[in-house]
Formats: sequence, structure tokens, C-alpha cells
Amino acid sequence: MKLLIPGPVTTHPSVRAALAQDFAPWDNEFRPIYAAVRARVLAIAGGVPGRHVALALQGCGHFITEAALRTFLPIGGKILIPTTGSYSDRMIRLATEAGRIAIPLPIDPARPADPGAIAAALAADPAISHVGIVYSETGSGVIHDALAIGRAAHAAGRRTIVDAVSAFGALPLDISAQPEIDAAVFTSNKCIEGVPGLGFAVCPTERLEASAGNAGSWSFDLADIYQHGVRSAPGTFRFTPPAQVLVAFATALDLFEAEGGQPARLARYTANMRALYDGVCALGLSPCLAPEHQGPIVVNIAAPDDPAWNLQAFVDALKARGFLISNFYNTVSPSFRVACIGAITPADMRQAVTAIGAALEQIGVQRRRAA
Ligand SMILES: *Cc1c(COP(=O)(O)O)cnc(C)c1O
Repeated sequence: MKLLIPGPVTTHPSVRAALAQDFAPWDNEFRPIYAAVRARVLAIAGGVPGRHVALALQGCGHFITEAALRTFLPIGGKILIPTTGSYSDRMIRLATEAGRIAIPLPIDPARPADPGAIAAALAADPAISHVGIVYSETGSGVIHDALAIGRAAHAAGRRTIVDAVSAFGALPLDISAQPEIDAAVFTSNKCIEGVPGLGFAVCPTERLEASAGNAGSWSFDLADIYQHGVRSAPGTFRFTPPAQVLVAFATALDLFEAEGGQPARLARYTANMRALYDGVCALGLSPCLAPEHQGPIVVNIAAPDDPAWNLQAFVDALKARGFLISNFYNTVSPSFRVACIGAITPADMRQAVTAIGAALEQIGVQRRRAA
């Protein structure tokens, strides 16, 4: 079965095989593996040892995003969040429930956010200290220009928190060139192609040192995680980590590096996306985004305008052919989504297109265009 969902992704068999051994997190065999993972993640993010640091937190992407918001914004602090889609909505809720003030900036979710509109919103409210950016909006499939938005924030003397969860490893990120970034966050189970269970944040050390005591949560405090790493050996987790997940992540990093790193991964995902996008167009289906705004991570395809359309029946018919996609709607008008990330190739995508055509026939859909 190939998972064509935006995480957890299809993993390479060697990544799954790495889960087969048990580890004690404090053991001398495990600690160097974690310390090396931190150094490798830092290098992928363009971090400079001593100036930047990579931290890990047990759990999913929401946890590491919440930790970043709590650590770098004080209670009552204001963050501007362009409404890119479902993940900006989630960032708004995480900030609000943590007692921070989220200021949504309404934007057209079908195109990249305009850095000029962000600059204007920052100029209008000097109390906003941060901009929260979803680099790759998994809800829509649009890539937002995190570099240009960061420059707009930097020019206005503000800082940023970058949700790079479905971007890191596939899209370029160089924290050394973006001094306004407080945290870029991601997880083990998306574009690095590990299994779920760990979140990561790459941050400037100076900002972590200045942010002690902000979080209002011991569990979700990146400044505390940082200090723990300084006090103890660098390969030491604060609380029990998913040790097998970390070891599998190290194997995923081996594969990532062997493939040629971020540029190679972006090239493969882009080729996956093209095979899918062109393939579904040839089937008579309508992708939700114009080709020039379609990112390489996830493609939403409008639900066919046919009374026989039924998302769960379609998902089941596709699953019977070896491909699993999400069985819920992510967009305002109904669509089904297919992710292009994970240990999959353009050849897999072409087979998925054939399977999509066959599944539509099986459930009796004749009119394939959008309503
Ligand atoms: C997957 C994802 C997350 C985190 O989701 P979890 O289910 O908490 O792991 C956050 N942001 C984006 C853009 C994502 O794609």
C-alpha cells in the first residue's frame, strides 16, 4: 500500500527496519545518534553551530508549533498570521488557546501571500511582534514565499515563526540568511520521510537564551529543552523520547543525503506532482489550483460534478488498487487530495493516475469536471 497523504508518508523499507531494535535513551549507544541527528538537521537548515541549534520535542507537528509560539511570544503577545488555509487556522487556535493574541490577515488561499500586505499590516499595528507563516500550506497545496515574507518582517523589525512542517527537506531554508526567524519547525514524518513521533525546531541560540520563562508550560518550552541540552550531554532528551523513531529518522537522513539532499528531493516531488497534475487533467478532472500556484507537496482535485461521486467510496476503490488518500474534505468546495511526498516516484504517480481513473469508473462517476 502506498500512502499518498501529506504525512505520515510512505517510508523506505530500511526506515521501517530501523524500528526493529530497542534502545535506552540515556545509553551511550543512543546518545551519539541523537546528537548527530541534531547536527544534521541544523546543517540542512543552514544553521551555524554556536549561533543556531536544532531541538527535538516528542510528538506531532501541533506540539512543536505550540512550543515555538509559547517560547517566543510572551502571554498576551501578538502574532500576525496570514490565513493561508487549514494550517494557519491551526496556528491561530494554538496561539489563542495559549493566551497569545493571533491577528489573522485574510488572504486568497489559492495564491501565495503578498509580502506587501504583510508589511502594511505590521505597519498598522506596532504591538505585533511576530509573523506566523505556513511555508507549505498543506490545506491548499500553495507554497508561500517564506523568504520574502521574512524580509518584510525583518524590515519592520519583527520576528517570524515558520511552520515548515510540510516543507522542511523539500523546500529551501537557510536560517543563516533569515535573521528574523525565531523558530522553523517540522516533524519526522513528512519530507524527510521518517515515521511519526518527533517534532524539531531550528532556532537562534541567542533568542532561546532571551526567552526563558515565557512558555507557561514545562512540556512545551523550547528554552527549557535548549538549557537541558546545554547542561547535560547534547544527545540527552529531557523526557522519554520515541527512541526507535529517532533511530529510524537517522536512517531517513542517510537516504535523504544519499539522494542529494533538498534539491534532489524537491526535484523528485516536483516530478511526482507534474505526473499527477497532468495525469488527472488528462482524465478530465479539475485540479483546484492554477498550474502556476500549484506547489510540489499536495494536489487538491475538485470533486467531480456527478451524482455518483462519494468520497469514501472513491477512497475505498482507490485503496483496493494500492493507494491510500485522505477521506475528508480540506477545501471550502469539495475536493480530494493526493500528496506527492514520501518514498514514491513519478512511476508510482502514473500508476496512481491509472488507479484514480479505474476507481472513478468503479463508483460510476461519468462527469469528471468540477461543478
Ligand atoms: C502535518 C502538518 C502539521 C502538523 O500536523 P500534526 O498532525 O500535528 O503532525 C503542521 N503544519 C503543516 C503545514 C502540516 O502539513
